Formats: sequence, C-alpha cells, structure tokens
Amino acid sequence: MKKSGLSDRAIDAAWPAWWSDDLDASPSSRAELRFALARKLGLSPKPLLGERVEFIWRDRARFKHLSAGDDIRQDAITSFGVSIGKLLIRATPAVQLPSVTAEELRNVVLSASPFVDLLSLITICWGVGIPVIHLRVFPLDQKAMHAMVVEDQGRYAILLGRDAQYPAPIAFTLAHELGHIMLGHLQGTSAIVDLEEGEYDAPGDPQEDEADSFAISLLTGTPNPEITTSVDSFGARALAHAVLLAGPLHGIEPGTLALCLAHRRKKWPAAMAALKYVYTEGKPVWQEVNGIANSQLRWADLSDESASFLENVMLGPDARSDIGR
Ligand SMILES: [Zn+2]
Repeated sequence: MKKSGLSDRAIDAAWPAWWSDDLDASPSSRAELRFALARKLGLSPKPLLGERVEFIWRDRARFKHLSAGDDIRQDAITSFGVSIGKLLIRATPAVQLPSVTAEELRNVVLSASPFVDLLSLITICWGVGIPVIHLRVFPLDQKAMHAMVVEDQGRYAILLGRDAQYPAPIAFTLAHELGHIMLGHLQGTSAIVDLEEGEYDAPGDPQEDEADSFAISLLTGTPNPEITTSVDSFGARALAHAVLLAGPLHGIEPGTLALCLAHRRKKWPAAMAALKYVYTEGKPVWQEVNGIANSQLRWADLSDESASFLENVMLGPDARSDIGR
C-alpha cells in the first residue's frame, strides 16, 4: 500500500482497532482486515492480496492546479476523499439543496449576522445537508490539498485540507468549494480537488474563476470589491484597526477585508500580519470546524468500524495513540 503512494497516516487511520499481530495467522482475519482497509481507503480489495493496489474511483475526479503526469497522487487523493465523503454524507440528514446565487445566500446570512464569516458558512453548509470537515490525515505525505468537494447521488461533502491559525483564509476556501457545488461544477464527476497553485497551472480555468467570483461575492457582496485605503503607510496594527472599523460597516468580516486588500494591492505580508491583531487569538481553525462536525454528524448511522475511521481522520494521529496497530 505504501508503494501506491498512500501515507503512513492514512493507512494508520484506516487500520482497524480490532487487529492484533496474532490474528496474522488467521486467513479469515486477514481477509476481514483487507476488506476493512479497502472499504475505507477506496481500494479494490482483490489486488490487496498481492503487491498491487488499485484505486476504485480512478479518473473520476477533476483536479485543479495539478502538475502534469501525477496519476498516482490523483488516484490516492480521489479514492481516500470519495470514501470519506460518502461516509460523511451517509451520516448527515438529507435536505433538498436549494439552487441559490451567492447574493441570495449572502442575504440569508446577513439577515441574522453582521457579515458572512467562517462560522456562518459552516452553519449554512450543515443546514443544507452538506457536511464539512477538516482532514487531519492526508492520503499523501505532501499537504498540497486546499480542499475537495465530493459528490454522491446528488449530495455533497466538503473536505478542507490546508489549515490556518485564523478563520478568514479558510472562509474563502469554504466559500469557493460551496461555489463549485452551487454552480453545478460537479456534474459528471465524483469530486473536485483544489490543490496548491503551482507553476504548472493551466491559465484561466473557467470553473476556478467562477468559484472565486462566487466566493468573493458571498463574502463581500460583489465579485470585484473596490477597496480604497491609505494602507501603504499602515503598519499591521493600523491596518487591523482600519478593517475592524470598516468591515462591519460594509458587511465584510474584518479578516476577509484584510485579505481582499492583500489580494488587490499585493500586500500579503502586511495583511497576514494584520490578522494577528484582527482576531483576539490564533488557534488552529480545524478544531472549530471538526468540533461542529462532531456535534452535527449522526454517528449512529455509521458502523463502529466506519465511525472510528472517520474519527481518526478528524482527530489526527496525535489524538489516537490508544489505537493499536
Ligand atoms: Zn476550485
């Protein structure tokens, strides 16, 4: 399995808790182990008998920003993500997904909140039957994945990849993935995987531009926010102060406003430094994302085996030292 490119962490997360080394002598236990791993990682169980690993959801995902000729990485990410997405969807009550524009969605949020932020986006997703988790275990060693949307029989799940200390960057990623869903980009594919932008990017992927516009409209009210400020002379504290004042006036979460500014003016270091003062404290965003998921998921709808796999994936390797291998 390791030869196929799957990371130790992913294999560990899928390894059943009931396994012990003395079961190695039992053919039926070995078969059960093989099926358990195959199910969770999205592998075809038969080749696991021998050397070769075959991924089930091959060639059915659409990759964004992928370096050319990286098939094995694609297969590993897709199979792992689709397996997890299907479990999440199974444990999330189905809701008729409304067809809405970014502006309509924004108005729904603004009727109850001063601006659209990460928490309100997560609330929307769960409210329309779209589970959202942060992956604490990656199928590959490189954490190149920003996020992934999985489709299963007309339903969707969002898996966040890259983490941050402050919510604004993750809010943008989540809004972008929601855009892929709402804009119908998953038609004819089981998943969309957004990878780190790289030097091999094909320029002008229309779906990426559309999802970005959707995200910016949802977060700010316009696909092209005009932001004027004398930021050039601002330090991080002054910039934070400015966005904390201006953000709520325009219905824009202050951290998001700082990021918009960074994008328009190519002032990334200043905006990122300002986030430290925009938020009272930095903490890994995944904890909040997965805390909400934990309370929303209907864990009883999953088998013990599936639930413990999902838990491993949501908690990460540090939190499950008690699980034997
Ligand atoms: Zn995308």
